[in-house]
Amino acid sequence: MSITENIKQYKNELESKGVQLIAVSKNHDVKSISEAYLAGQRIFGENLVQELVEKQPQLPNDIEWHLIGHLQTNKVKYIAPFISLISSVDSLKLLKEINKQALKNNRIIDCLLQVYIADEATKYGLEFDEVVELLRDPEFKTLQNIRICGLMGIATNTASEKQISAEFEELKVLFNGLQQSFFKNQPYFKEISMGMSSDYELAIAQGSTMVRIGSSIFGKRKQTTNGA
Ligand SMILES: *Cc1c(COP(=O)(O)O)cnc(C)c1O
Repeated sequence: MSITENIKQYKNELESKGVQLIAVSKNHDVKSISEAYLAGQRIFGENLVQELVEKQPQLPNDIEWHLIGHLQTNKVKYIAPFISLISSVDSLKLLKEINKQALKNNRIIDCLLQVYIADEATKYGLEFDEVVELLRDPEFKTLQNIRICGLMGIATNTASEKQISAEFEELKVLFNGLQQSFFKNQPYFKEISMGMSSDYELAIAQGSTMVRIGSSIFGKRKQTTNGA
């Protein structure tokens, strides 16, 4: 199927469930992104800062760009003027830098905390107790130019649907607990970004509000990259 048909089909399926589609365009060119845009897609996810800052000026202004890959502190400044959501925050140090750059640009930057749910040593993210530690840190409370809108997680790359579902469920349980303890009167804390091409249906069944779909919209990537 074409990119246009894929976008239309996903939008149809996800909108009825109230789930947002992040079209993951990493490794795909501006022409492919334009095709998805013309099919009505407005939210795109990239995982490399350099690739994102090259593409962003070539594409329409009403695109919401999400950074979904590991972000190095020294690269925050390049995306701070325009990024809509940073979904891969995995330290207080990074959050402080995002806050600093957001302030410089006179804006508030929405973020998700990336939580480690997979059974793999290679994935980035905070452990459950580190999430709580971060939210309890007195310095966190001083950050006025960032907003924590929820959590992001990547499940283990396994054929076991049972394991994947259990990992997504853990993220949802953590989300519920944090909402009660830290974000009670903060309606913007509402997103659980989980699910990719291979496991988005399992993620939605466990309460995902945002799925990040790449290869089943745009086709296979030339190479895979793991972060900025
Ligand atoms: C590449 C990537 C995706 C999309 O993966 P697909 O399997 O192509 O759908 C989702 N989330 C993150 C963090 C990624 O790096």
